[in-house]
Amino acid sequence: MVAGIYIHIPFCKSRCSYCDFATGLYQSDIAERYVAALVREIRATTHTRNVDTIYFGGGTPSMLSPAQISRILSAVHESFEVQPESEVTMEINPGSVTSEILREFRACGINRASFGAQTFDDNELAKLGRAHSAADTLKTFHSLREAGFDNVSFDLIAGLPGQTFVGWQENVERSLELRPEHLSFYLLEIHSATPLAQHIERGIQPRPDEDLAGEMYEWMLERASLAGYGHYEISNLCLVGHESRHNTKYWTGAAYYGFGCSAHSYDGAGRRWSNERDVARYVDAIVSGNTPIVEQHELTQEEMCAEAVFLGMRMMRGIDTREYEQLYGVDLREQHREDFSRFEEAGLIEFEGDQVRLTRTGALMSNEVFASFV
Ligand code: SF4
Repeated sequence: MVAGIYIHIPFCKSRCSYCDFATGLYQSDIAERYVAALVREIRATTHTRNVDTIYFGGGTPSMLSPAQISRILSAVHESFEVQPESEVTMEINPGSVTSEILREFRACGINRASFGAQTFDDNELAKLGRAHSAADTLKTFHSLREAGFDNVSFDLIAGLPGQTFVGWQENVERSLELRPEHLSFYLLEIHSATPLAQHIERGIQPRPDEDLAGEMYEWMLERASLAGYGHYEISNLCLVGHESRHNTKYWTGAAYYGFGCSAHSYDGAGRRWSNERDVARYVDAIVSGNTPIVEQHELTQEEMCAEAVFLGMRMMRGIDTREYEQLYGVDLREQHREDFSRFEEAGLIEFEGDQVRLTRTGALMSNEVFASFV
């Protein structure tokens, strides 16, 4: 399988209350030093495989200038065989870019935008500490289209504190009206060290209702499917032919190489490694000629088998058990006979020929299902 490249840009305009990603506030001098370090790390890579996806994630990568993005992409092209027609994605936050800058990003080679809309309710956006309004979302979306982005993904979050079912329906309807090619939606997770977790702990914001979030998830799947979106992964839907090629690599065991602080990599053959999480320590390591890698792990055969199941089952097409047996020498149905029969009885998984996959209910309860395979 052809590999992918992930590039982490750890800067944001402000800090969202629910976020626990490795990201800090944007400062132009730090960003410039970071880009120089990134370019150096990419140029020093010893991995020279063909790649067909490049993904700028963060943080808010669109806070970098087109010239900086261009320098990073040039380093990637110098160090890797980037295939023609590669998918080159950038995460973009509403209100963070002008039409002119979007046109320049497009001209640099960015051909897919992952767009952090999250919700169309301004009160909810304010509670999340997002730095944009619903009007910004509409404006930036139209600017993306004008700049020639014909592959746009929307992120939406369900289960926000105080969010009602009707409010969620409104969010989904407004997203569908814009007809993005791809939709990612997440159930809000409360991470313990975040301001949102403290607000909930202190009763400033209500605790999200998990059952309601589940109903929101099911309703969205129904509604989006009526609008022509296929549900191809637990949290992702798209119009025909617009699956995220990059993220699919994570779920199917393909190699991907991460650059930048906190970036993770996998060689596709059992070795995982990750970089220093802190921006300053990452830059120092690169500048002083040291490796930014702080963790490496060689998966055992058992771990590779488990990963192939719980990552592969994220895809709604499921796993081909015959292919799995050829790859790992294990009869999956035999190996997990008891779990499979329990989950099948509960309506969480289903079999069709050699294929085993999650049902829609199973997708909602995937954590419980996957816990059996770890
Ligand atoms: S924009 Fe994204 S990465 Fe940045 S603080 Fe908000 S959630 Fe975190």
